[in-house]
Amino acid sequence: MITVQEHLCRIVDSVQRLPPVCLDLLEAQGCVLAQNVTSEVPLPGFRNSAMDGYAVRGADLVTASPAAPVTLPVVRDIAAGNTEMLSLAPGDSVRIMTGAPMPDGADAVVPVEVTDGGLLEVRVSAPVDAGQHVRHAGEDIAVGECVMGDGTRLGPAQIALLAAVGTGQVRVTPKPRVAVISTGDELIEPGTRPGFGEVVDSNGLMLTAAVRALDCTPLRVGCVPDDAQRFLSVIQSQLPGADAVITTGGVSMGAFDTVKEVLSSVATMRFDKVAMQPGMPQGFGVLGENQIPVFTLPGNPVSAMVSFEVFVAPALRLMAGRAQQETEMVTAVAAHDWAVPAGKVQFARVVLSHAHSRDGCRHTAALVGLQGSHALGSLAAANALAVIPAEVTLVRAGDQVSCHPLGPVLEAP
Ligand code: AMP
Ligand code: MG
Repeated sequence: MITVQEHLCRIVDSVQRLPPVCLDLLEAQGCVLAQNVTSEVPLPGFRNSAMDGYAVRGADLVTASPAAPVTLPVVRDIAAGNTEMLSLAPGDSVRIMTGAPMPDGADAVVPVEVTDGGLLEVRVSAPVDAGQHVRHAGEDIAVGECVMGDGTRLGPAQIALLAAVGTGQVRVTPKPRVAVISTGDELIEPGTRPGFGEVVDSNGLMLTAAVRALDCTPLRVGCVPDDAQRFLSVIQSQLPGADAVITTGGVSMGAFDTVKEVLSSVATMRFDKVAMQPGMPQGFGVLGENQIPVFTLPGNPVSAMVSFEVFVAPALRLMAGRAQQETEMVTAVAAHDWAVPAGKVQFARVVLSHAHSRDGCRHTAALVGLQGSHALGSLAAANALAVIPAEVTLVRAGDQVSCHPLGPVLEAP
C-alpha cells in the first residue's frame, strides 16, 4: 500500500508542460501564454477625449462662472474614428466625442452636460482644469512595456489586452488532449436502457465531461470489452493523437481485470494499492514513443471521479502550464458524526454550505447519501469531498474537516 501523496508525487514528477504552439487569440482562450508579450504601441494610442463634450484650452475659460459664462465658437466636430491631425486655435472650441483624438493645443474637455450643448457656439459657466477628461497616450500601457508574462492564463480580459496592442497570434501551451477509454464486458453505450447484467458507460461520459470542465480537450474513445488484444490495440491507437490517456475498470483483483493484466508487464507502468477510500486500486505510467502519461483508474464510478480529482486533474493542469491546484480547500464543521476507515484517507461525499453571521462565514459539511464507491446518486448530490486523514477513525459533529469543492457552495437554508 502507498499513500495518496506518494502516488500523486510519482504522477506530477513524470508529467511536463506541453510544448508550445501558435494559436489565434480566440482559439487560445483558456490556454497559458508561453511567451512574454511586449507592446509596440502605447495604450491609449493617441491623446483622446474621455467624455462627449467640447475640447478647449483651459486658459480660455478661467473667468467662466454661472454669473458670467464664457461663449466660445465651435469650429468643427471630431468623432471617434477621425484620423486627421487637427489643432485648436486659441479662443476656439471643437465638439468632441468620447474616444476621438484631441486636437493639438486643446488641453481639456468640457462635458456636454455643463454647457448649453451649442452647435455653432457653446456657453460654458465653469472653468476647467488643464487635463480634465483627457486620456493621455500611453497612460495605460507604455511602448516597450511587458504587458503579459509567460504563464498567464488567457481569459476574456487578457485576450482583449493582447488584441488591443495589435497581437493576432500568440504562443501558448496547448490544452492537453485526453483520450478516455472505458473497459468492461458489461458496458453499453449511453442513451440505451440497460438490460439485466448490463451497465451504461457512465464513466466515459463523466470523465469526458470532467476533462472538458477542466478546460482540456477530451477524446472519448468509448467502451472496450475485457479482451487483452482489443484493449492493447485500442490504447496503442490512441497514443499518437493524445497527450494523456485515462482508462477505467479492470485494475482490481478480479479474474477479468484486463487493463492490469495487459499493462502490468510494461516496465514504465506501475499498479498499486493506494491508501484511500474510494479509489484504492490505481495504475499510472507512461507509454509509447512520446511517453504519454496513462492513468488507469478503477471502474467504480465514484472511485473514478475521486481519482480524477486527486490524481489526473493536477497532472493535466501542470501539462497545460497551470498551477497544480487552482482552488483552495475549504475548512468546514462536520454536521454530524460519521465513521472513517482505519489507515486510509477518506474522500467523503458531502454537501458543503455556508452561513454568514457577525463572526464571519462558517462552512458546514453534511454527509450525503450512500457512501459506497458505486453510488452515483450521492456523487451527483454532493458538492464537495471531505478529505479525512488516514489516522482519523471517526469524525464527530463539530470537528473541523477539510473539503475539496466539486461545485458551487450554497448558502445554508
Ligand atoms: P472494475 O474496476 O472493472 O472491476 O469495475 C468495478 C465496477 O465498476 C463494476 O461494477 C463495473 O460494472 C463498474 N464499471 C466499470 N466501468 C464502468 C463504466 N465505464 N461506467 C460505469 N460503471 C463502470
Ligand atoms: Mg471490469
